[in-house]
Amino acid sequence: MKSRAKLDYCGNGKTLLHCGLFAEGGNRYASAMKIPQLIAMLIVAGAAVILLLSQNAGAQFHSVALSGKVGVATVDITPEKPIRLSGYGSRTAPSEGVEQKLFAKALCFQNKSILLTVDTIGVPARVTKRVHDELSKSIGIKRENFVICSTHSHTAPTLHGTLPYMFPSGLSDEEKAVIKDYTDDLIEKLVAVSEKAYESPQPARVSWGKGKLTFAANRRVIEDGKWKGFGVQKDGPVDHSFPMIKIEDADKKLIAIFANYACHCTTLGGNFNRVHGDWAGVAQEEIEKRHPGATALIAIGCGADQNPEPRGELDMAVAHGKAVADEVDRLLVAELQHLPKNPTGIYNEIRLPLETPPDRSVWEDQVEKKLKGHHFAKGMLGKLDRGEPLDTDVSYPIQSWSFGEDLAMVFLAGEVVVDYANRFYREFDADRLWINAYSNDVPCYIPSRRIHAERGYEVDYSMVYYGKPARLTAGVEDQIAEEVAAQISPRFKTPDIVR
Ligand SMILES: [Zn+2]
Repeated sequence: MKSRAKLDYCGNGKTLLHCGLFAEGGNRYASAMKIPQLIAMLIVAGAAVILLLSQNAGAQFHSVALSGKVGVATVDITPEKPIRLSGYGSRTAPSEGVEQKLFAKALCFQNKSILLTVDTIGVPARVTKRVHDELSKSIGIKRENFVICSTHSHTAPTLHGTLPYMFPSGLSDEEKAVIKDYTDDLIEKLVAVSEKAYESPQPARVSWGKGKLTFAANRRVIEDGKWKGFGVQKDGPVDHSFPMIKIEDADKKLIAIFANYACHCTTLGGNFNRVHGDWAGVAQEEIEKRHPGATALIAIGCGADQNPEPRGELDMAVAHGKAVADEVDRLLVAELQHLPKNPTGIYNEIRLPLETPPDRSVWEDQVEKKLKGHHFAKGMLGKLDRGEPLDTDVSYPIQSWSFGEDLAMVFLAGEVVVDYANRFYREFDADRLWINAYSNDVPCYIPSRRIHAERGYEVDYSMVYYGKPARLTAGVEDQIAEEVAAQISPRFKTPDIVR
């Protein structure tokens, strides 16, 4: 990494030789001094060494330089009864058993920064707010220091308030009640697992690096500049980077892994109606199996237009998950960059405007002819008939955590397409940048300007599932980029790097 040599200087376990005090230039300077001056300087330097050692007395007993304390906790969020699984509108019945358990996991840094990963289709803003409100009262967590990342698994329960028009066939009152209970229970569990992580800090060394995984494929088939359908677009943009944080204790025992990959959790299709975490769930299970006692947290990057390839069968999800665990193992023995500082958070909400909705006659026609999306059209007409305003924009949270100048981690809400990550890798130093999507809220897809022009599912029809009356405007990419640029220190910008 570009800045590693500079970052690993004094105070992080390196010898003073690395600090430059006794390096080449220093020796030349010493030779020009008079003897009494040299003795005086050596006395001062010796005192400085003693002071430094005394200040780092704790660290002397450990083989690793620490980053402070980190707490980790896990809670089982597997549904206890059949529940409608989200992600595919083609499903018409509650889940038929549990193929794999689901979990929520929390990392708590010493400065009260808490990151949660949740095996779910997407935690809505309302749930994130309720969890944070509770944590604000119980342990004083500031909003900018709290973030929830969803794995976007399509074999996890529907949550109350997410994807309100997912099912054309609708939900029964009983199914709605099960979903509401599960969501309320999840809120309690997310609060509890956060508090548990907060209450169990242990001395830790945090380090990070980027690997590579190639099972994500661009799923937007484009012909003559327009979207033609789902498939594999071999020359389409991807983000195959695999950023990973490693947290180990003072004895170098692995405590936790936090990693991210820009790929939908859609190896399993709509015909699979059993609870499962998809590739992210397998990855977490496999990492924890290979490293007993460690906790694995997986988040998703800008993978809204990326599907796992191949997909469709359970053994494929297992293979992708094991590929993640293999890459984790490779990185664990590589030289990772130490993160000595706790994250500093910034949080803001912006408004992303929607285009003008269609005339009500369009929706009336959909309902009358029972066209695709007629259930949503019926909902919109109901709103109009009741005199309720239609949404004109989307509330959009953007958050960032900076680990000193060593790493900037961005959290974008919603289903963010890969162009965003690739744009930010160009505008900032990609070697110090990590982009999470599906964070804090999943209000809808977030297309780029390019994809907006190409049209297709991520621009248009997906908005039906999310209950939005129109597509987002083409300018949202620049709005989001502007806010990200405002949050990240200019020191992460590298105009001198040509990419
Ligand atoms: Zn999705």
